[in-house]
Amino acid sequence: MTNTYDIAIIGGGIMGCGAALRIKEGGMDPVVIDQGDIGQGASGVNAGTLSMQIKRVKLMPYAIKGHHEWQLMGEKVGFKKTGGLTLAFNDREAELLQERMTMKRDAGADITFVNPKKVEEIEPHLAKKIVAASFCPDDGYANSSLSGQYYRGRLTDENIDTIERFQVSEININSNGYEISSGDQVIKATRILIACGGLTKHVAAMLGEDLPIRARINTVSVTERAPRIMNGVIGHATGLLTMKQKDNGTVLIGGGWQGKGTPEEGRGAINPETLLPNLQLAQFAVPTLSKVRVVRSWTGFEANVPDFYPLAGRLGEKDNAYILGCVRGGYTIGPYISKLMGDLILGREPEMPLFDPNRVFNEDKLI
Ligand SMILES: Cc1cc2nc3c(=O)[nH]c(=O)nc-3n(C[C@H](O)[C@H](O)[C@H](O)COP(=O)(O)OP(=O)(O)OC[C@H]3O[C@@H](n4cnc5c(N)ncnc54)[C@H](O)[C@@H]3O)c2cc1C
Repeated sequence: MTNTYDIAIIGGGIMGCGAALRIKEGGMDPVVIDQGDIGQGASGVNAGTLSMQIKRVKLMPYAIKGHHEWQLMGEKVGFKKTGGLTLAFNDREAELLQERMTMKRDAGADITFVNPKKVEEIEPHLAKKIVAASFCPDDGYANSSLSGQYYRGRLTDENIDTIERFQVSEININSNGYEISSGDQVIKATRILIACGGLTKHVAAMLGEDLPIRARINTVSVTERAPRIMNGVIGHATGLLTMKQKDNGTVLIGGGWQGKGTPEEGRGAINPETLLPNLQLAQFAVPTLSKVRVVRSWTGFEANVPDFYPLAGRLGEKDNAYILGCVRGGYTIGPYISKLMGDLILGREPEMPLFDPNRVFNEDKLI
């Protein structure tokens, strides 16, 4: 490892791999480093939902562009555009739905409100207790377990070096740039991009940066194969449920219910106290699910900062150090925001504004 790369990208998730592809296309020589395998983090274990209805209002333009990127990747990542319904079961939820979806529609998402009769036509197996619903024809999903395979293939095709099973434990700065170490192995690079998902805080601290990054521990479950009981993505007005049935009949159930653990301690664990209400809400929305067994539940880490907007830009006052992460709905938005990040590193003007990691972080509502 005597080569000095133009940039070392720490983190082989969607953010790191997407940025690497853009940077290479712009003429620089990147290396992608991961402590495990490419795509083993959140990018490979998430629920795969590409829903405009669960995106933050301010991030909608990024989500629309990200959705388009997934569509271009198509079958290789299991992309499906199925349409999606978000449901309200009482007046309070209907009010919430109306308020949130109106804002999202105004931000550019193709969302309409549909009456219970129309809902029944779209999804005949839903509970008959629906008070209000919204529909977005663009909603869909991809298969996150294909992320690693897909991006590894793209990196190989573009002759981008990848160094897996290299857990970065130290980063030093000298007059030539950065020395990134794992034990006695060292990788040298002129620039550095930290894209370490749930461990971004930990790795940024190696450069003396203290960022207010926290990690959520999202839970996802999958059922056994079942006859067709839903056609598209199904969500709930509170944002606490996402569901879709894959072509093989399995149903994937998520909604951001929190498991246990921290990224620093290793893999998280499911929490029965949150898993149960998640599955009960799914069954409340689609009663037929009571006949279908859950075969596996798992967790993954999703980083965020107090205002729930991304960190995407230069890291502190350091020369040639960048950070990309904490993107709410990062699976959907990742392939696009990583291109913008690549453009910044290449010295080009990004097509849309990035999110200054050195800003003041105020707590914000998750809308
Ligand atoms: C369970 C779950 C469900 C989700 N569902 C959805 C969804 O349905 N739709 C949606 O849009 N978004 C969803 N998300 C969010 C989305 O998955 C993430 O925002 C996105 O994958 C983050 O990508 P990333 O590249 O930043 O991080 P990651 O994919 O986590 O990649 C970071 C990489 O950094 C590596 N790394 C960390 N530390 C080191 C180190 N010291 N040295 C070397 N490598 C290191 C890790 O091994 C990892 O591969 C979900 C997230 C989770 C956890």
